[in-house]
Formats: sequence, C-alpha cells, structure tokens
Amino acid sequence: MSSLIDLHSHSTVSDGLYTPTELVAHAAQHGVRVMALTDHDDVAGLPEAKLAAKEHGIELLAGVEISVTWRKRTLHIVGLKVDPEYPPLVQGLAAIRAGRHLRAQGMSASLDAVGIHGSLEGAYQYAHGIISRTHFARFLVDKGYAKDTKKVFKKYLVKGKPGYFEHQWADLAEAIGWIVGSGGIAVIAHPGRYDLGRTNMLLLLEEFRALGGKAIEVVTGSHTAAQYQEFAKFAKMFGFAASQGSDYHGPGHGYMEMGRLPELPSGCVPVWQGWPEVANAGLLS
Ligand code: AMP
Ligand code: MN
Ligand code: MN
Ligand code: MN
Repeated sequence: MSSLIDLHSHSTVSDGLYTPTELVAHAAQHGVRVMALTDHDDVAGLPEAKLAAKEHGIELLAGVEISVTWRKRTLHIVGLKVDPEYPPLVQGLAAIRAGRHLRAQGMSASLDAVGIHGSLEGAYQYAHGIISRTHFARFLVDKGYAKDTKKVFKKYLVKGKPGYFEHQWADLAEAIGWIVGSGGIAVIAHPGRYDLGRTNMLLLLEEFRALGGKAIEVVTGSHTAAQYQEFAKFAKMFGFAASQGSDYHGPGHGYMEMGRLPELPSGCVPVWQGWPEVANAGLLS
C-alpha cells in the first residue's frame, strides 16, 4: 500500500510539465493517496494543489525541494510538511529564485560563447515559475542541439560543458533551518545522485543529522534497486527515517511514473509513521 504515498513531485511552478491541478489529477488517476508537491525553491503551487487534492479526495502535503551548495557540490534538500508562510522560508526561497535569474544569464552568455544564441529568451518561454536548467534543456532540444533532455544535459548543461555556470545556492544549515523552523521535516533528496564516495557521504549524513535533518530518500525515481538497499543501510546506521517519492516531472521526463514505487526495504522506519494524513487516506502507517 505504501506505493500510494509519493513525497516528491514537481509542477510547472518549477520544472514539471503539469500545472499543480493537472499534477494532482494525474497522481489521483495513478492511485496515489498521499502526495507532497516539492517544487524546486518555490511553494507557490501549494494553494492550487491543495484545492485539487480536496476535489480528488487525496491528501496533499506542503513540500519544497531546496537547492543547496555543500562543499562545492549541489545538493537537494526536501522539506516535508513545511509551513509555506514561515517568513524565513519565504525570504530564503525568494533569494534563491533571484539567484536563479542571474545564473540563467550566465548560462546563456556561456552558450553564446559557443555560438548558441537566444537561449535566455528561449528558456524563459518554457518557464512558468522558476527558471532552471530543465528549461534551457527544453529550448536546446526543440532547437535541435540534442535529441532529448538526457543527451542535452550531458552535452551542454553539466559541469565542464559549455552551458554550465557555477552557482552558489543556499547553505545546508540555512536550508535545514528554514524547513525545521517552519515545523517541517528535512530530507536529503536522492542521495545516490551526488556521487560523493563513502567518506563524503558519511560526512554529509553526519552534518545533516547534527543540523536537525531527520530523513533521507531511500526509494526515489533516480535510485537503482541496489541504491534502495544501500541507503536503507545508511538510514539505519544514522537513525534516519526513510522517505520515498517518484520525483515525477511529467510525461517523458524520465524518472518514475506516479503510483508505482516499490516498497521500502524491510527495517526502514517510514518518514510517514504516525502521520494523521496517512491514516486519513486509509493507508497503514
Ligand atoms: P537546476 O536546479 O536548474 O540546476 O536544474 C536541475 C533539474 O534538472 C533537476 O531537478 C532535474 O529535473 C533536471 N536534470 C538534472 N540532470 C538531468 C539529466 N541528466 N537529465 C534530465 N534532467 C536532468
Ligand atoms: Mn527538476
Ligand atoms: Mn532533485
Ligand atoms: Mn525533484
């Protein structure tokens, strides 16, 4: 039954393809009963998503996925059950979004340098909320610079490639502070994607816990089955609860379909243990 809980998803407020209303409808159609909308660096989709969830009789949790720089690497920290009106969170996210505009200009200038012009205006045409690399990717694919999003990232949008522009996101401590201060739960998103190596992973988990982090994603659309087991072990080692989510961004975006998550590995303590929303949805906690 826990495959019907999805605690990581995106709408057009960040880089998803569905509006909050469409996303919730899609989740409901795929059997999801409890979901969190976790747009990158923005909570603007939550009121609309809440209304849609009411209509479909599913539970919608307030979430966000915050971009963080930790030891020169970009990490994503999900906040679950946050108060979207908590002033430090509101202000912190606004500052990150302002930084995104500057970074987009930098990305566009570096693409200009390799003869790809018009990417700033182009990317903004795909953006309905924040501006992200995904919007540049959509522009570049539609202009024929690569076949699909995956290829375009590899060729242009990752470290060392012409459209990559170094950027300083929020501090880990700040992001956790905004989440926890608002009454939410801080979760490391897709820890298997950071390519940290064991030593740095242990350092991150240690520091995250010391700063008030409570959970890590074990089952996510971007982990392999082996990584489910690996991060279940890390969760146990550090006493973290386990979270799960598809990281759904819309059709054709890779990752995972909603409502199809495998069960958490045995021995995990689900982050939703004891949540009234899960009981309300008729699911076992
Ligand atoms: P940004 O926060 O602007 O750096 O954009 C990051 C987003 O780009 C992620 O949340 C993903 O949705 C998307 N993304 C990152 N890497 C890839 C990839 N290799 N293929 C497809 N999408 C990606
Ligand atoms: Mn994304
Ligand atoms: Mn992410
Ligand atoms: Mn995500």
